[in-house]
Amino acid sequence: MPVAVGLAPEILAKYQPVIGLEVHVQLLTKTKAFCGCKNEYGGDPNTHTCPTCLGLPGALPVLNRQAVEYAVLAARAIGCEIRETSVFSRKNYFYPDSPKGYQISQFDKPIAENGSLLVTDAEGREKPIGITRLHMEEDAGKSLHDGFADSATRTYIDLNRCGTPLVEIVSEPDLRTADEVFEYLTKLKEILLYTGVSDCNMEEGSLRCDANVSVMLKGAAAYGTKAEVKNVNSFRYIRAAVEYEIERQIEVIESGGRVVQESRLWNSGEGRTYSMRSKEQAHDYRYFPEPDLPPLVVSEAWQRDILSAMPELPEARRARLVAQYSLSAQDAATLTTDRELGDKFEQAAKAAKSPRRVAAILLSEITARLRVGGLELGGSPVTLDGVVLAADLAEAGEISSKQLKQLLDTCFAEGQDFAHIYSRDKPQQISDTSAIEALIDAAIAANPAQVAQFKGGKRTVAAFFVGQVMKLSKGQANPAVLNELVVRKLDA
Ligand code: ADP
Ligand code: ZN
Ligand code: MG
Repeated sequence: MPVAVGLAPEILAKYQPVIGLEVHVQLLTKTKAFCGCKNEYGGDPNTHTCPTCLGLPGALPVLNRQAVEYAVLAARAIGCEIRETSVFSRKNYFYPDSPKGYQISQFDKPIAENGSLLVTDAEGREKPIGITRLHMEEDAGKSLHDGFADSATRTYIDLNRCGTPLVEIVSEPDLRTADEVFEYLTKLKEILLYTGVSDCNMEEGSLRCDANVSVMLKGAAAYGTKAEVKNVNSFRYIRAAVEYEIERQIEVIESGGRVVQESRLWNSGEGRTYSMRSKEQAHDYRYFPEPDLPPLVVSEAWQRDILSAMPELPEARRARLVAQYSLSAQDAATLTTDRELGDKFEQAAKAAKSPRRVAAILLSEITARLRVGGLELGGSPVTLDGVVLAADLAEAGEISSKQLKQLLDTCFAEGQDFAHIYSRDKPQQISDTSAIEALIDAAIAANPAQVAQFKGGKRTVAAFFVGQVMKLSKGQANPAVLNELVVRKLDA
């Protein structure tokens, strides 16, 4: 985590941080952007290659249709407009993992522009973060600096990733805090996962983020000079890197120096950034239109066809879950972070008597036990039918919440579904009113102060007595019967 630079709060408060993000996302196509090689993570080095992605003379690129469709889908999902005719350009630079000596990218006529995403600012208000553009490009290969006997003197090159399709999503410098950065990235990733255009696996590099950070005195007319923090491989680290970078720049300025425009690398072990190289300017790349590819035309008809695959997006789904199933905003938000979890919830909610009860069981009982066992949702021994049964039994008061927890513990311990454990271990339940009344009488006798509170008008104290009786009955009192009788007795 970030090394605190240790600036006083009143110094920090003089400055306004400004942040813009550049996010690279690998598209989940079967083949690469401009050739038929497999687009697959891993594989023996240099086995997913051909003359085109190796940049051999005379080999020509042919654009992957699926990559265009994913780019359009992603762009529309973040509110961008699609440019009907976009143009590929060559971005020229010399680097060992880029055998052509240039990257095919888009420059002045990208496929999509002018989108936005909502984040919550420090005052709790929603505000739009502008998305300048989404453009298509190809990835580079990888330089392998470690892991070989002669790594001290040699670097190896693996070109399997070379030419795989990317979209780059560039934000406006509209972000103001590290928390906003975190939320923007979380929402962006959610949307990309919902649309299915990428697996967004950061460890495998399917989603990579560069953060541009600057600071200026509050009220200043112009932004300060930015530094770019590159290749941070988790959102948590990006938040930490941005926090660090803001403080570093303020300290530079406070001690009379100037921030230099440069690229910096994040070191997660030390919690700080290091200068890597001075940043190139656009003209350093000598962009020019790619002569081997015609302009890309996405007709209205093709666009309509692509957009027929647009799923309901997380934001809309959250609102619908609240309206349709009377969920709390918090539960709806948690259920939509993962499309599969949301799907499962809705499937179970439709079959159960109380959707809220299903949400509660899925979110607190099931996910907590999955986490303890290090399991994915798909690895739960309790099926959706099991969740529905559990929710209905709990809703009808046929099992207490304590019994529900015990049954689920057994399910997870034995790897068995709920129906099986429930019919085998069918928990004892006391529904006999006279037996429950006797327990209530005992609780009332033992707690005169709480009885007085209740009589004095504090009716919520009834819940205290329900808890007492549950304890006395070892969790076996029928909750529905108990709830009713407690109030009747206290009122008597
Ligand atoms: P460059 O020409 O250096 O690539 P761009 O203007 O294209 O810079 O912006 C690249 C990224 O940097 C964008 O995400 C943009 O929002 C962000 N950015 C631009 N200026 C600033 C600034 N002064 N402070 C923070 N971020 C900035
Ligand atoms: Zn190839
Ligand atoms: Mg730029």
